[in-house]
Amino acid sequence: MQSALNVEIAASALQSIASTIRSGDARLETGGALFGPLDGSRVLHAAEPGAMAEHSARFFRRDLAFTREEAARLYQTDGSQWIGEWHTHVDVPPTPSELDLSTYFRHISNPTLGFNRFLALIISLGPRPTLAAWVLERQDQAIVLIQAGEQAFCLSE
Ligand SMILES: [Zn+2]
Repeated sequence: MQSALNVEIAASALQSIASTIRSGDARLETGGALFGPLDGSRVLHAAEPGAMAEHSARFFRRDLAFTREEAARLYQTDGSQWIGEWHTHVDVPPTPSELDLSTYFRHISNPTLGFNRFLALIISLGPRPTLAAWVLERQDQAIVLIQAGEQAFCLSE
């Protein structure tokens, strides 16, 4: 059932996701933006949600102003750009919800954002935390959703 991820994620990005989850309320979703090379080949940074983020059991919206500041800071640091999103699912599988999909489609369809590829990492919590990677890609005129693997996710330090 477990398959390796087809998306390279820096160990430091995985650690910051784990640390954000540990410091939050396990009954509520959390998440943040992902940053790396514009082609979406690698995740170098996973941002925190930000102080003004909205958390609920079935919904999460990151703090937009905070995320913009992080984007500017990381671009200055190593040229990283916004390439996707990560968020948790409290007690449902790490599969994008209808709401998740509509958000991802909106981002990849927005011509001013210029995405050809959009990464989504979903971490399901519960007794055995699992990280699933999803990729939305433009193929000809269509946008397709590809599951890029899943693996056990370690929440401890
Ligand atoms: Zn979701």
